[in-house]
Amino acid sequence: MTTSQAGFDALARLDLLGLDDALSGEDRLLRDTVRRFAAEQLRPNIARWFEDGTLPARELALEFGKLGVLGMHLDGYECPGASATQYGLACTEIEAVDSGLRSLVSVQGSLAMYAIHAYGSEEQKQRWLPPMSRGEAIGCFGLTEPDAGSDPGSMRTYAKRDGDDWILHGSKMWITNGSISDVAVVWARTDDGVRGFLVERGMAGYTASDVHHKISLRASITSELSFDEVRLPASAQLPEAAGLRAPLGCLTEARYGIVCGVVGAARDALASALSYSTSRVQFGKPISGFQLTQRKLAELAVSVSNMQLVARRLGELKDAGTIKPYQISYGKFANVRAALEVCREARSILGGSGITTEYSPLRHAVNLETVYTYEGTHEVHTLVLGEQLTGTSAYR
Ligand SMILES: Cc1cc2nc3c(=O)[nH]c(=O)nc-3n(C[C@H](O)[C@H](O)[C@H](O)COP(=O)(O)OP(=O)(O)OC[C@H]3O[C@@H](n4cnc5c(N)ncnc54)[C@H](O)[C@@H]3O)c2cc1C
Repeated sequence: MTTSQAGFDALARLDLLGLDDALSGEDRLLRDTVRRFAAEQLRPNIARWFEDGTLPARELALEFGKLGVLGMHLDGYECPGASATQYGLACTEIEAVDSGLRSLVSVQGSLAMYAIHAYGSEEQKQRWLPPMSRGEAIGCFGLTEPDAGSDPGSMRTYAKRDGDDWILHGSKMWITNGSISDVAVVWARTDDGVRGFLVERGMAGYTASDVHHKISLRASITSELSFDEVRLPASAQLPEAAGLRAPLGCLTEARYGIVCGVVGAARDALASALSYSTSRVQFGKPISGFQLTQRKLAELAVSVSNMQLVARRLGELKDAGTIKPYQISYGKFANVRAALEVCREARSILGGSGITTEYSPLRHAVNLETVYTYEGTHEVHTLVLGEQLTGTSAYR
């Protein structure tokens, strides 16, 4: 039996509700392909990337491109046109290795590529989407600013008309893939409300510098983008993007990837804790034989299955084209919180060994602190659900 087959069998044991049986043969094939890629190409390296605080993003993007997961749920322009359910399964398998890797994939596909796909001109789509789906070009998505996080409507980055051109001035903070991007989707105020622009690497006045000393999402590139009177041609504007609704539409796309991805992080933490508990002997027997450990394992397994149910349901709604933003908020609220709790509890089963990078649960937990905050903080999604229930908005 191969190591990877043994790993597949161990995961099948965690599927207490038989959710795998509900997948089509095609879905399972895709899931297994991504799972195998993750086991062979990503998992052996992730502790080192995390410790080094970086990752070989360009090489990885090319590999992800060959795997067909960049912009995989988009149609046309060499994108695979997969279902939302399939995209969700891919996110789960990638985030089972690390949230930073899933962030690379979802920022590329669901934020940068989706923005161009949904709001770009034909020329912009032809130019960027095929190389981005192959991983030959990398994109990022700049919405957050040093003084505008949860409240993007207060952004200061400004684009001013100068003849047919635009002059872009301002900065963006916490931008995933920022310094390695060939194209940045940048949101800015204009005299006509918020608009989106494609800013290309090397344009005069555009610089990117990385954020260092991160404790969370270390296997990911996070940057600050600075625009000092950057001159953009008229063709750099995303013609179909009008108002804040445009970037928020991209975030709804990407949040679905998070809802599914964090299932992977939690499942991996559970698998790690279960495996450790069967071999770690204390008081003369494996710790898996103690009732307190079994209770923890049972709670974790039920939680992971519940998260999977939420992800599958949202996948169905997305594939049916009926999903509502508050339902995405439900998924992010419920699944990220649950994943964090699972990873922390799984770490406790590993005792002291659980605090090293040799085991995944604590790495997942610290990564999930970022996931809890980005793409709408947990509190903001709470307010979305509160507004849906009460009809009263409590943001201000
Ligand atoms: C590693 C990493 C990668 C990221 N990648 C990207 C990216 O690629 N592109 C991008 O644009 N952004 C990115 N972000 C930014 C992320 O989306 C923001 O950090 C997030 O939106 C929160 O903004 P903030 O950090 O400014 O926190 P703030 O908005 O200042 O929030 C601080 C706290 O106040 C709470 N709060 C704020 N308003 C309210 C309210 N009305 N009611 C109750 N509580 C409230 C928040 O929930 C939070 O707990 C990334 C962040 C990180 C950490």
